[in-house]
Amino acid sequence: MDGQADLRVVNARVVTPSGSIDGGVAAADGEIVAVGSERNLPDADRTIDAEGNYLIPGFIDPHVHWGLSRYEYEYHEGLAHDFETETRGAVHGGVTSVVNFLLQPDPYVPDMDFFREVGEENSYIDFAYHAIVHQDHHVEEIQDLAEEGVRSFKVFFNWYKHASPELGIDHSDAGRVYKVLDDVADIPGGVVMFHAENEDLAIERRKELQEEGRNDLEAWSESAPNICEAMQIEQIGRLTEFTDSRAYIVHMSTGEGVDICERFQEKGVNLHAETLPAFLAHTKDKDLGNWGKISPPLRGEESKKRLWEGLRNGTVEYLGTDHCPHKIEFKEKDTGKYGDVWDAIPGDNNGIEYFLPVMMSEGVNKNRLSMERLVEVACENNAKRWGLYPRKGALAEGSDADMVIVDLDKSRVVDDDFYHTMEPGYSTFHGEELTGLPTHTIVGGEVVVEDDELQVDKGGRSYLARGPEGVVRE
Ligand SMILES: [Zn+2]
Repeated sequence: MDGQADLRVVNARVVTPSGSIDGGVAAADGEIVAVGSERNLPDADRTIDAEGNYLIPGFIDPHVHWGLSRYEYEYHEGLAHDFETETRGAVHGGVTSVVNFLLQPDPYVPDMDFFREVGEENSYIDFAYHAIVHQDHHVEEIQDLAEEGVRSFKVFFNWYKHASPELGIDHSDAGRVYKVLDDVADIPGGVVMFHAENEDLAIERRKELQEEGRNDLEAWSESAPNICEAMQIEQIGRLTEFTDSRAYIVHMSTGEGVDICERFQEKGVNLHAETLPAFLAHTKDKDLGNWGKISPPLRGEESKKRLWEGLRNGTVEYLGTDHCPHKIEFKEKDTGKYGDVWDAIPGDNNGIEYFLPVMMSEGVNKNRLSMERLVEVACENNAKRWGLYPRKGALAEGSDADMVIVDLDKSRVVDDDFYHTMEPGYSTFHGEELTGLPTHTIVGGEVVVEDDELQVDKGGRSYLARGPEGVVRE
């Protein structure tokens, strides 16, 4: 490129789609204009010396639930609130794009202008949407939502009977699942996402455990045993094959799930899987109290091992967080960390901010995953699956200059000062020391967090409308 760039990062180990190199990246007008050795980069207004640390694309979190602070606010107010507080955490943690799940009983299309503006005005990062289709009128909206840039649709197999009736989640019998898969099969880039847990079995198990007087975190795991997930993934795989559609298992937690996905993938069925840092780092016997009540529940050592293997061998292609912003009082139902496990609210808090640190700490620094493979599953693959690539998810000329400098030796204990979100008081990683943290987060060529200090105001970010060919730059 001729002329002056806005920003250069030099003296870095740069992870690019074609391998890692020693050098740097230059950005102008929000885009990457050069990747290479320092002497081949243009001059810039500002140069950051990465001091030999890694420079990687910002993480993309494809699984967050902004608006779950709806228990304190009306849903749309909650969205405005969470976009600000939770993406503020995101940039501190090295996450630079997010795909949020829309969830309301009303149709989505009439509110799309609001959904676009609420993010543009309140977010620190660019964003896209999935829609949770849990009413007949949502299923009827699928084609129109695709026109609005929403091409992924989620179905819950749990929840609809007993948990959270206030969310108004309707049934997801095989007929509806068939219909959604069949409709989405015809949409270019369309994907159906599934929370794969059999609720009918879980209800009986819950009753039995409660009658035995059990009330502990392991009982929560035993109430939705591995077979709950395995049964649903098996059904999803078969219906996906039958409809020749595309399916994505969110937060897959079991070794059984890895085996089933592998079998369908070998047959050429479009069945894909995401897992969470929590399932890669924790097991069900960990002393987390009700902070460890997540859905699906934590599993045993065998599943954890199999999920790491799946990430390495390609069966598990995606990472997300399932970040649920709940206040601690609400999570614990005011009964404390070791209160009633059956009453406590499922879901983990603050995933978006611990996402990168946990994966560096547990993955790269423990030699379970190479930095290059981590960049694939947390950046590149997420961007490709959700139509954001190559604008997002790559350090390459023409991509958005969303990047993170990671110091693999920098460490911190996760305490009340660690997080920058609405509720810094808890997560499944509270009290643990994490090693491998961002030193700089850059969004659209602008340094947004430097040495743990926020540098910018909220807002001015883009809604990533996904067309038949993915997102195009305006
Ligand atoms: Zn979720």
